[in-house]
Amino acid sequence: MLKIKSFAYNPFQTNTYILSDESGEAIVIDPSFAAPQEEAKFDAYVNNNNLKLVGVYNTHLHFDHCFGVGYLKKEYGLEYAAHPAGLQFIKGAAKQASVYGVQISEIEAPTLEITELDIIKFGNNELRILNTPGHANGSLCFVSDSDHFVITGDVLFRESIGRTDLPTGDLDLLLDSIHNKLFVLDGDYKVYPGHGPSTTIAEEISGNPFLIFGEIH
Ligand SMILES: [Zn+2]
Ligand SMILES: [Zn+2]
Repeated sequence: MLKIKSFAYNPFQTNTYILSDESGEAIVIDPSFAAPQEEAKFDAYVNNNNLKLVGVYNTHLHFDHCFGVGYLKKEYGLEYAAHPAGLQFIKGAAKQASVYGVQISEIEAPTLEITELDIIKFGNNELRILNTPGHANGSLCFVSDSDHFVITGDVLFRESIGRTDLPTGDLDLLLDSIHNKLFVLDGDYKVYPGHGPSTTIAEEISGNPFLIFGEIH
């Protein structure tokens, strides 16, 4: 049984997820903490639950999803993994972030590569990986078939979908990813997005206004 904890960090309120199981092993998805008090909240959760962090995985490399990778390397000795197709996004991230009032040092490129062919293993659990481009090249979703959930990054939100106006964004590709990769999951799968509250696949199939719009046109 997987336990999922989420924290919304930084001015973009990007969700960081900590997944753990009864073994005490845990992974971090999208470490988005950018300020010392946010790092402290993260550390407190890890310490209070006696978690052993064993991996860090990014849904994609937009800078608000990777603010915390340097801290995890420094404090926990953890490298992070992402799809190599998104490497362009972290170049110059510090300058981009400063425009939004977030002061960070440059984000180092991930040293570990993951794609749809890989499986994430930790504790007694594993996650499948889906290639889901359209919001950004290299976008991935992480699926637990044992616990029926999917972590969708900026591909699918509650009652919304990822923006496609940034470099490599493509609405047709995004709709294709959502319909052919996410909406083929059972309706009871919970959806944990990169921003905002969780939802389910069934709720988004029936009520997501962007997808109903997408169907008509
Ligand atoms: Zn994004
Ligand atoms: Zn985002």
